[in-house]
Amino acid sequence: MKKQLLIIGTTLVLAACGAKKPEPVVIAPTTETSEVVAEEIIEPEVELPTARPVYRETETILTDLIHTRLEVEFDWAQSRMNGVAQITAKPHFYTSNQLILDAKGMDINSVKMNGAPLKFVYADDVLTINLGKEFTRNDEYTVTIDYVAKPDERETGGSSAITSDKGLYFINPTGEEKDKMPQIWTQGETEASSVWFPTIDSPNAKTTQEIFIKVEDKYTTLSNGKLISSKKVGNGMRVDHWKQELPHAPYLFMMGVGEFKVVKDTYTRPDGSVMEVNYYVEPEWEQYAKDIFGETPDMIKFFSELTGVHYPWDKYHQIVVRDYVSGAMENTGAVIFGDFVYKNKRELLDDNDNSTIAHELFHHWFGDLVTCESWSNLPLNESFANYSQYLWDEHRYGLDQADYYADKEADGYYQSAQMQGYHDLIWFDFDDKEQMFDGHSYNKGGRILHMLRNYLGDEAFFAGMNNYLEKNKFKPAEFHQLRLAFEEVSGEDLNWFFNQWFLGSAHPVLDFSQTVDEGTSTLNIVVEQKQNLELSPIYKLPMDIAVFDTKGKHIHRVVVDELTEEISIPFEGELKGYIYDFQQAILAKKREDKPREIYIHQYYNGERYIARREGLKNGAKGTSAESQQLILDALKDSFWGIRIDAIGLTTRLKEEKREEGIAVLKDLAANDPESSVRAAALAKLGKLMEPEEVEPMYVTAISNDLSYTVISSALSALGKDNPEKALALAEPLESEKSSKMMSGIAQLYAGYGGAEKYAFFENALNGTTLQGYDKLGVIGAYTGFVSQQDIEIYEKSYDMYQNLYENGGLYTQMFMPQFVGYIAKSSGAKIDALETELANYEENNDAQYAAQTRKEIERFKAVKAKFEAFEAKLAEEKEASEH
Ligand SMILES: [Zn+2]
Repeated sequence: MKKQLLIIGTTLVLAACGAKKPEPVVIAPTTETSEVVAEEIIEPEVELPTARPVYRETETILTDLIHTRLEVEFDWAQSRMNGVAQITAKPHFYTSNQLILDAKGMDINSVKMNGAPLKFVYADDVLTINLGKEFTRNDEYTVTIDYVAKPDERETGGSSAITSDKGLYFINPTGEEKDKMPQIWTQGETEASSVWFPTIDSPNAKTTQEIFIKVEDKYTTLSNGKLISSKKVGNGMRVDHWKQELPHAPYLFMMGVGEFKVVKDTYTRPDGSVMEVNYYVEPEWEQYAKDIFGETPDMIKFFSELTGVHYPWDKYHQIVVRDYVSGAMENTGAVIFGDFVYKNKRELLDDNDNSTIAHELFHHWFGDLVTCESWSNLPLNESFANYSQYLWDEHRYGLDQADYYADKEADGYYQSAQMQGYHDLIWFDFDDKEQMFDGHSYNKGGRILHMLRNYLGDEAFFAGMNNYLEKNKFKPAEFHQLRLAFEEVSGEDLNWFFNQWFLGSAHPVLDFSQTVDEGTSTLNIVVEQKQNLELSPIYKLPMDIAVFDTKGKHIHRVVVDELTEEISIPFEGELKGYIYDFQQAILAKKREDKPREIYIHQYYNGERYIARREGLKNGAKGTSAESQQLILDALKDSFWGIRIDAIGLTTRLKEEKREEGIAVLKDLAANDPESSVRAAALAKLGKLMEPEEVEPMYVTAISNDLSYTVISSALSALGKDNPEKALALAEPLESEKSSKMMSGIAQLYAGYGGAEKYAFFENALNGTTLQGYDKLGVIGAYTGFVSQQDIEIYEKSYDMYQNLYENGGLYTQMFMPQFVGYIAKSSGAKIDALETELANYEENNDAQYAAQTRKEIERFKAVKAKFEAFEAKLAEEKEASEH
């Protein structure tokens, strides 16, 4: 799964995050002394535990699922599904006369074997079937369950990654929302598949599957495996038969139904056979499906070669659904994405979703082929999927871009850990399995794999990966199996690495300092481990140190494994530079203090993005000719990430260097191939030049640039100096069918728009162009806009918020209390301001204005009361959902 967390300020993020890991309860034994035996009592030195620690064990396998055959049809009006499940299974080891299945919130009509009814008990979402006789582990049997799935009639929980666990979703099933295509889709992970078919909802179960989906002929269907047949059955109905002959975990079962268009693509296997790679999208996105997903066949080839295990499944289809509850999900061969991936050609110039596409695809090896045996072992799925984003970036866009996003991933881990607490990567004592979907399993896990690769070398790392997949394919695995696979290949005992990173918590904090002994030509380095040792171990950290002297670059591999590590490295002639952790691979907070000229050298001689960025940032301090030249050189760096950093530093340029810098910025603003660089350069020029000089550049960008990011940035900058002109230029852009552009315009209107812009917001928020998280941004802008307006707009806005809350999807609902609360508060401020005005009118005996103002105050009071009631209702619902 790929989480999509958005950052709209800390309070919102906090509101969306899960609970903090509680401290273990430690009760100290009593140490009361009595006079008689006082001398015999020994004070204990440590607090002793009073209970065994929490351990989330792997589900015991009582039954092996073998095949799951489903026949389903839908009752759209009631959001229900009628199903017949035939489950073929056998006892795992011990002889048994029972089959125990998860079945959440269903009606169970009957359970039969060979046509004869079986006795069963259905209670607390568990279906216990009496098989009528004992079966041994060599006896397969098939039971047939006739049932009704009722997802909307269950109480649901939720978490930060997967925000609901309904399992089966009916979106706009009766067609009441005019612009939303009615559709049905499923979300199994973590344990919600049993809402729509009886199964064993545990990641260590695996079964082959087939589904017969009965739908009206106008609908397209999607499920796992191959489409075997599609038959009309009269009454305008059709039955599609999907079958997957390779086993996978029940949480990967998927079903999708709607009037989707299917855009066909293919992948040719090494043996010459052709596999279908199709994209399921709404009709209006048909023309862009290949722009959005078109790199998928190349990714399948790349990951197949990299793992040495050819893509094992029948096909690879991807579907985009509305109101999705997470980012995307790796259902085997039938991957779901939220609507944030809908982007037109121009939007794709700014930003694509290839990293999410790669993430879900890589799960087809790590997750779908080899599956974590328990949720505690989730990093076996997610850290590899996360790392695939790096692998794809490196292959497709180069090392710099891969390192750039890897650094953001590391930041994501630090932030998430700070908010939610530190825990072991393989986390055996979580409170709730949904907590596993955090910055540890994903971001930190990906960085740990990168360290392992850097340590073992590419050949051993990828051979180890292959060994793990070959040994465990079609089976569940725990993290020891990953270690053993790498140990077998490398020949090395890797417990030290796995203990500190997989079974350890937090990360190293490293202080580097150095002295240069010119007499003996020695660089003396001290590395201190400063992390909190209550959370973390003293780490063993192999790392490369690069030293540059008269003879060139020398790489020294050292191992830091003491609290204070002293390292001496000789050099010849002049010491020109030194770079710690030359590959920038170690996940650690590092503090370094080097002379400025060493940082400048580091920018020009570092081979990795982070080393060069740090070289630039620290080397640019001060006003020496070298520091000034550094900024100018970095503006022309081959990597766009560095160019953006350099743009930020141009305010440091002095006198004639500033003129030179402005000339480069103008060139970047007009011609840089990266839109984010053009946007940053344009914004910076506004700070370095007079408004009248820079205004024509904004106007040119708004009219000529293809990138919505650049246009939005220019509109916002122009708005500050010349709002009338910005508003005039924005108006024709309202008709662009782009979520990004709408979002840019909304920001401008929030700041400078008058009441007449209400129609824009109404169209934007009621239409379908606005996708994914842009919608939240526009609701935020709308809230800002409303708060600047008069009473008429305040009054109108109430119905809009109500409508957004009811139909705007899960994320809109999640953040609604903030928006509604803001309007309630700002109506209060309006009332205060009006009351001051009223006092003035009364003092001046201005009866007409006073009467008018009194009326307005009354209307604002009514609005405030309505919004406060709305806010209270939201708080109540939140409270109820938490219990
Ligand atoms: Zn994932």
